[in-house]
Amino acid sequence: METLWSDFLNSEWHDWKGSGYSEDRLGQEKWQTYYLNQWQLKAQVPADDETVGVMRQFRSRLHDMSVRCAAGATLAAEDVDELNRMLDLGPVKRKAKLEGGELGIGLTPVREDWHQVMAEVAASFLRSLIDGEGNRIRICDNPDCRWVFYDDTRNRTKKYCDDKMCGNLMKVRRFRAKKKQEQNKAGRKIPSRTSESAESHK
Ligand SMILES: [Zn+2]
Repeated sequence: METLWSDFLNSEWHDWKGSGYSEDRLGQEKWQTYYLNQWQLKAQVPADDETVGVMRQFRSRLHDMSVRCAAGATLAAEDVDELNRMLDLGPVKRKAKLEGGELGIGLTPVREDWHQVMAEVAASFLRSLIDGEGNRIRICDNPDCRWVFYDDTRNRTKKYCDDKMCGNLMKVRRFRAKKKQEQNKAGRKIPSRTSESAESHK
């Protein structure tokens, strides 16, 4: 499941197909416009360099927290301090609301800038931990991808960001590795010249 906070983290993009190419999309106008539209937030595009710098720092801290939560740890006191610093950047207005006979409190962002966006990211991360569970945070099992996501499946066994993409790719890699191992084993039993010619077919 994509959340406001994981989408923010994944602005640091890695080519899941394994080319080794990475792209930091946070400073890109295209990504900024996409992100604001996707989560219905408002801020200036393009964000100024200083703000992008602060966002990168926060993203790095949040990524570190996510990796630790994914490994089963809980947040430390300094993590909570960092999240509070971000929450302070974006105040909200409270409003009572009645939706379908159900009473609730709505929170509306007060500011329309990237500081408010960071506060919303911090709040969204906390909501995932409080309403959900930290150990449902996953880093895609494809080492080239490292996409961060929240596993909302019932049996909580989601290993890949996308089973059709990374899941299939890793299946193919495992299959090839197994085949290579079998070939190597077979190669040892027969004379080396035959083994060499078998290798050259790949
Ligand atoms: Zn992936």
